[in-house]
Amino acid sequence: MTHTVCLVPGDGIGPEVTSAAKRVIEAAGVDIEWVSLPAGETGIEFLRSPLPERTIAAIIGHGTALKGPISTPIAGGHGNVSVKLRQRLGLSAAVRPIKSMPGVKAPHSNVDLIIIRENTEGLFCGIENEVAPGVIQALKVCTVEASTRIAKFTFEYALSHDRRKVTVFHRADLLKKTDGLLLRCARKVHRDFADRINYEEMIIDSGCMQLVRNPSQFDVILLDSLTGGMVSSVAAGLIGGPGMVPSASFGPQCVLFEPVHGCAPDIARKGIANPLACILSGAMMLEHLGEDAAASRIRSACELALSRGDALVLTPDLGGSGSTTSLTDAVIRALK
Ligand code: NAD
Repeated sequence: MTHTVCLVPGDGIGPEVTSAAKRVIEAAGVDIEWVSLPAGETGIEFLRSPLPERTIAAIIGHGTALKGPISTPIAGGHGNVSVKLRQRLGLSAAVRPIKSMPGVKAPHSNVDLIIIRENTEGLFCGIENEVAPGVIQALKVCTVEASTRIAKFTFEYALSHDRRKVTVFHRADLLKKTDGLLLRCARKVHRDFADRINYEEMIIDSGCMQLVRNPSQFDVILLDSLTGGMVSSVAAGLIGGPGMVPSASFGPQCVLFEPVHGCAPDIARKGIANPLACILSGAMMLEHLGEDAAASRIRSACELALSRGDALVLTPDLGGSGSTTSLTDAVIRALK
């Protein structure tokens, strides 16, 4: 069967890692017709918009997309393109598996947890106002609808993926109404799952400390948009860095798969970006498309390529002297 998938290569290392993922998916024997779409710098160059309407419409039309990171100017310029894209597509739930891989030098070797992030509300609404000269406010928007939706998604995901515990990270001691709303919704939804899934709440400050000291105590962690991004990056550091964490964002009309890392402008076009986060995002996508066997072969091939520990193959972030191409080739060779 041929699948049609939108491909948004993105900026910086985006085109390098998405083409690596494409090569691996093709080598795994899955037939995909790719619809390449501009966003970010290519959107501005070809359609005078960082987020062209054509790109949004095509993703909704085809239902599935693989995306690279997109750059956003800091402290000025246009808004965050990836956040805007997720909002426009209604991709309210992001799933980020944080899993140790064999052979990777990292602070921990036994991490296996899932971060679930509410993608569309909170401070990610990006609403800022100057209320008086020199006084700026940012609005943290939280609704019962989105908080209940992400809580339901999280418990259902935990149940269907054989997970036993959900922990909500929050600052509801301080933000009693906004973070408090997420807690109230999570507690209410948990009642329907109480016999099957354990539930706990942690003030995020303590949660981060415990995550770094003893990550194996966590199973599924639920967070809001802003803190979800931060904690995902901390968790990536636990298993070997930003090049290791894939993600999937789910909405009612479509699903988007992308590495958690950014465009890495410091290494763009040097051919040394770690492609694994994007390749593993591709594996998550194949599972979504019903290609479970290919997804599992790709995951095993990534593990095998890493466990061989060949310094000439591994990218510099993994301690090697290899390249995006050498690591991608090694994954393809390891496909069984
Ligand atoms: P970043 O993830 O791009 O880079 C942080 C560090 O990690 C850099 O040293 C980089 O070289 C390294 N790194 C990241 N991915 C890597 C990989 N695959 N292999 C090896 N090393 C890797 O984060 P940043 O510097 O905070 O952001 C840079 C740009 O990316 C910004 O414009 C930001 O807006 C954008 N960004 C986009 C997304 C997205 O589109 N999903 C996510 C985060 C950041």
